[in-house]
Amino acid sequence: MTQQKLILASGNAGKLKEFSSLLAPLGWQVEAQNLHQVPEAEETGLTFVENALIKARNAALHTGCAALADDSGVEVDALQGAPGIYSARFAGVGSKDADNNAYLLERLKDVPEAERTARYWCVLVFLRFAEDPTPVIVQASWEGRILAAPRGEGGFGYDPLFWLPELGKTAAEMDKEEKNRISHRGCASQLLIQVLGERFGQQG
Ligand code: IMP
Repeated sequence: MTQQKLILASGNAGKLKEFSSLLAPLGWQVEAQNLHQVPEAEETGLTFVENALIKARNAALHTGCAALADDSGVEVDALQGAPGIYSARFAGVGSKDADNNAYLLERLKDVPEAERTARYWCVLVFLRFAEDPTPVIVQASWEGRILAAPRGEGGFGYDPLFWLPELGKTAAEMDKEEKNRISHRGCASQLLIQVLGERFGQQG
């Protein structure tokens, strides 16, 4: 039986590796969209769900295959949910992690510790084909607090500022396996496996 292809709507090699092994039990052959010359989709949505749908639909449309997209970011309560879907470009288009972190600290400089609650979100969208009317959509969050100064060298993005009170460390002080087990992305991936398994059955 030929394996069905699943196009990952991301050029990130790390994500490809992670999703390939996560989806292995379902028998899909996961390929990055840049193998298929898929043009970048413009993320014009106002929610993680909309942007993930736009990316997945774009990949399915240009390949004729099933597609998976993810969209993620951090929501800070004292900033009414910002940066949210703009997390990657909070300090401006083309900004680096360090710029975004510095800008976040600046925006929170007068906010006391007790009010610095925040959470990461990850949304995953799976489409069987571009016009699939019943996409599989899962989302998961990860609660934390925004520190007043960075701690730790691991992870990426806002991880050096993302404090886990019950663990007594930031996401940048966790090893990769520990973070993947409990993070928004790790939990959303587990949910996706469960829902895809229920809907399409185990083939592997
Ligand atoms: P994307 O899902 O790769 O588009 O990431 C969106 C942005 O959200 C990233 O550039 C980071 O700024 C932020 N973000 C999402 N997930 C994480 C995480 O696990 N750690 C730190 N920052 C994250």
